Amino acid sequence: MEEKVVLEAIHLKKVYNYATPNAFEALHDINFQVKEGEFVGIMGPSGSGKSTFINNISTIDECTEGRVLINGKNVRTMSANDIGHFRYQNLGFIFQDFNLLDTHTMYENIAMPLALAHVSKAEIDTRVKQLAEELQITQLLHKYPHECSGGQRQRGAICRALINHPRIIVADEPTGNLDSVNSSELLKLLQEMNQKNGVTIVMVTHDPLIASFSSRLVYIKDGNIETILEKGDLDQDAYFNKIVELNSKESREILTH
Ligand code: ADP
Repeated sequence: MEEKVVLEAIHLKKVYNYATPNAFEALHDINFQVKEGEFVGIMGPSGSGKSTFINNISTIDECTEGRVLINGKNVRTMSANDIGHFRYQNLGFIFQDFNLLDTHTMYENIAMPLALAHVSKAEIDTRVKQLAEELQITQLLHKYPHECSGGQRQRGAICRALINHPRIIVADEPTGNLDSVNSSELLKLLQEMNQKNGVTIVMVTHDPLIASFSSRLVYIKDGNIETILEKGDLDQDAYFNKIVELNSKESREILTH
């Protein structure tokens, strides 16, 4: 069976501060497809365009030139309403700094995507409580984010990302603020969702070990896709070694230029 393409960038170019003296071309000419059920890792030096790339292929930001298709639909021709609907139906976001609102309780933060989609209060209540129980944060629901530890906030952020049963999860350095125990728990959860439920994952990380959970690795450098590694039949150790090798080769090149 032909694999379905869920996200596609075609000649994607992103210029910040377009048509001003401060214009900066962060992505040059990106062509890339994410297939349903893939776990794509994104690596590259700081400032190379990783966040810009995932923001542009996931409706958070809009490209300057080229096209982004989600489920075959051109994002540019979708109305704001359609995009909102698409996000609610398909996407879950996990960010490094969690992006929880400090003026809202964990319950309200987790419920936010459903409230924005006008899901009924009763349905919201059932879903928030059920997922909170699964992620073992029931006792935190009435607390504010600043009253929770980093690991607890991250669980809250994961709950919020999963509350709409997304088919695609976009994660930007999701373990950046976590210790190793919480990082590996998050990775296991993402891997389970990917392998058991076929959820598509696109994840930026700087950590080769975390990247070795992916099925394909994209290395971005200076606004271009420099290399793509496929896990293929490799076991995780061998894939991890390839990722380390690629990163050290790239680091050496940066040092010698
Ligand atoms: P990475 O995620 O790889 O660290 P980013 O995608 O955040 O890189 O940034 C790529 C480049 O675009 C960097 O040079 C950064 O300074 C620049 N950039 C990012 N966001 C903006 C913005 N809002 N305005 C202007 N320049 C930006």
